[in-house]
Amino acid sequence: MAKILVTGAAGFIGYHASRRLLEQGHEVVGLDNMNLYYDVSLKEGRLAELRPFPGFRFVKASLEDAEAVDLAVEGMDAVIHLAAQAGVRYSLENPRVYVQSNVVGFLNILESCRAHPVKHLVYASSSSVYGGNKKMPFSTEDRVDHPVSLYAATKKSNELMAHVYSHLFDLPTTGLRFFTVYGPWGRPDMAPTLFTQAILEGKPIKVFNNGDMRRDFTYVGDIVSGIVSVLDRPPVREGENAPYRLFNIGNSEPVQLLRFIEILEHAIGREAEKVLLPMQPGDVPATFSDTSDLERLTGFRPLTSLEEGIPQFVEWYRRYYAI
Ligand code: NAD
Repeated sequence: MAKILVTGAAGFIGYHASRRLLEQGHEVVGLDNMNLYYDVSLKEGRLAELRPFPGFRFVKASLEDAEAVDLAVEGMDAVIHLAAQAGVRYSLENPRVYVQSNVVGFLNILESCRAHPVKHLVYASSSSVYGGNKKMPFSTEDRVDHPVSLYAATKKSNELMAHVYSHLFDLPTTGLRFFTVYGPWGRPDMAPTLFTQAILEGKPIKVFNNGDMRRDFTYVGDIVSGIVSVLDRPPVREGENAPYRLFNIGNSEPVQLLRFIEILEHAIGREAEKVLLPMQPGDVPATFSDTSDLERLTGFRPLTSLEEGIPQFVEWYRRYYAI
């Protein structure tokens, strides 16, 4: 069984990834600074679920603290780096925190992995790196150098920085571009939670780009299956090619936002009052993942349709918020 550092373990995806690894019998060190981007009690709730596992240890530290990151990485077999300042819209008003957490923080992770070599560094990138890419589905072969938000630019920077460390120091790295993730314990700043909350409280929901937006919504359990599937398959150097790799993880079935809302209304049993609004700066009209290269390597396939995943989210939401 392996010793794995999961950064962002109190976060949405980090919690689910940690849990899956603990259930498989691995030792997990979770690192998170419990930042105030959203309700900390939700992060504490996730940690409360992880603490009973004897293989779990939590370190409260910031990625910007190079010494703390170093201590956490030392002795690890692998690192799953999920801590980041997420969110596209927030990056318009708070640009500095993105560079601090996502660029400086990522540099600290890379430096620590260089000082204490791990077998594999797996890190979160994002579908946002595709920007306004018109070619569907999005493939990791596509040219992506036109980010339309600072968040996307920091994620693209991570891919570039990872390449340097793979190339210069033979650090095996796999970047995973996640596509809009939803599910139990989901982030309160994302549409599924915002919509569910508003519908249950009888308040209107804001539907951007008049609902004419397609998103490749992906169930968190499938994201975690993708992460776990690559973990023990680090890339190897092949001649001039560094041990560096990128994959998409998505549902490969984009749906119109209005269809998403319909499924949500059905799961909640109430109709939403929709306020149609124009496109927000930094947003993109569509996302659509091509995951065939990941499937070839690991057999990964997303298993959860929106019709199955949304009711699971709604059930968790009602239980957690007692509504
Ligand atoms: P999240 O905000 O729920 O989790 C991130 C966690 O990292 C939080 O608990 C936060 O406290 C922690 N964190 C943030 N900055 C930190 C810092 N400087 N030092 C230490 N801890 C810090 O977000 P999530 O949805 O679980 O996202 C996980 C990763 O996946 C992120 O890298 C995100 O950019 C990426 N991602 C998420 C989605 C999605 O739809 N949720 C899509 C694409 C990519």
